[in-house]
Amino acid sequence: MKKIVALVFGSLLVVAVTYAQYPALRFVVSMPEPSNNVYNIVFNCEGLKEDSLVFKMPVWTPGYYQVMNYPEQVSDFTAVNQKGEQLQWKKSSVNSWVVMAANATGITINYQVKATRNFVAGNYLDSTRGYISPAGLFMHPEGKINTPVVVRLEPRAGWNSVATGLETIPGKAYTYRAKDYDVLYDSPILIGNLESFPAFKVKGVPHEFMAYKAADFDRNQLMTDLQKIIVAASGIIGDIPYNRYVFIGIGPGGGGIEHLNSSSVAFTGKELNERAGRIRIYNFLAHEYFHHYNVKRIRPIELGPFDYDKGSRTRMLWLSEGLTVYYEYLVLRRAGLTTEDEMLQEFSKSIKNYETKPGRQHQTPADASWNTWEDGPFGRTADKLNKTISPYDKGPLLGMLLDFRIRHDTKNKKSLDDLMRLLYQKYYKKLNRGFTEDEFRKDAEKLAGTNLQDFFDYIYTLKPVDYTTYFGYAGLSVDTSTYSISRKTDPGQLPAAILRDWMK
Ligand SMILES: [Zn+2]
Repeated sequence: MKKIVALVFGSLLVVAVTYAQYPALRFVVSMPEPSNNVYNIVFNCEGLKEDSLVFKMPVWTPGYYQVMNYPEQVSDFTAVNQKGEQLQWKKSSVNSWVVMAANATGITINYQVKATRNFVAGNYLDSTRGYISPAGLFMHPEGKINTPVVVRLEPRAGWNSVATGLETIPGKAYTYRAKDYDVLYDSPILIGNLESFPAFKVKGVPHEFMAYKAADFDRNQLMTDLQKIIVAASGIIGDIPYNRYVFIGIGPGGGGIEHLNSSSVAFTGKELNERAGRIRIYNFLAHEYFHHYNVKRIRPIELGPFDYDKGSRTRMLWLSEGLTVYYEYLVLRRAGLTTEDEMLQEFSKSIKNYETKPGRQHQTPADASWNTWEDGPFGRTADKLNKTISPYDKGPLLGMLLDFRIRHDTKNKKSLDDLMRLLYQKYYKKLNRGFTEDEFRKDAEKLAGTNLQDFFDYIYTLKPVDYTTYFGYAGLSVDTSTYSISRKTDPGQLPAAILRDWMK
């Protein structure tokens, strides 16, 4: 929105001017017979004027590191020019439709998308609600990822609400814009008769939660606690980079996916009625929320710009996913929603989970990150389970090791929080890009003021973890038969200070 300068004229005029600058690529999504599970898409493109045009559908969606079958759900593809004359087309790859455009100034393509997968990375439509994973619904003209896009929805009669992080266009019902396809593909859409829980602001920025089919629980309590989570999580980085955030609750199921200014979560809230379930849900929401920093903005260089045709592989999901799990637990503690003991128990459980699986003797976290694409849509199965680890498995442990090490090496003057802030400021804010493995390591070592080879061996080799040394830095000990964590009775002055500050 950097185009908005003439604020003196008031927001309406500015909006009109900005809207006029978004005319080229426009979608209309309708759902005339939702019970058939089919979305109708009309895509108007103006001013492209090429001999032939390639329209592409991504094969995956960022945040879910699997090849999806989005292009296979497309049918009834047709293309016409501005006079309404049919244009020839053919498929040139699994996700490419080539239209013989003959230099037409305007082209309209029509297609349908079958939407039967009720999942945060799928498309779904029935007579009760619709959910759109945009990477699996909206085609882009090849090479035009950086072009602004407008989307108008035609919800089923009787449906009255839409949950999405996309910007609305004032005065135009159900019409949204994205400054480019990366934003569009990162903005899922839920349509139906949705419930809005009581919204709140953090540093003046509104946070919303809209849900389909929420269970019976205390809405005010959820949102009061969620506000504490957002305050604690955003306090770590010290900057809120969006104008509005929305949690999109898609109803019963499993899984969640983070986005730039929203999260899609399988959610009913039923578990909120007892403490253990509440903590599980809060961890889950804190995880998806913290991702808007760690992975969306603090990101490995491979994770944006994305390769929508093939997928984007990185060896750093241990950082993007693993450390996000680490921060779930810390954020809940800092928000005052768990006790110190509850937090240590979460870490114990997670260490036990990692240490008691055979995969740790076969695969490093870096390799697990790279190979997560091979897992298939239902995760690791059969013998693979014994020979591999998930990029999540060692995450909380790696977070503790690195955090304790930085605190120890800097005499408790710096922490992992400082490293996350540094990465955010340096790569996202200043350089507007991700970082390489080498850059991450150099920045971590510079902050710690020491060589961190010993820590990085836990990422790149199968070396067993030295619990005594690392946990000793924070005045803690780990019983390696049960993996329970306890406080040392006489930890020494520096470890005592480190433990106190880490838990605050
Ligand atoms: Zn995650």
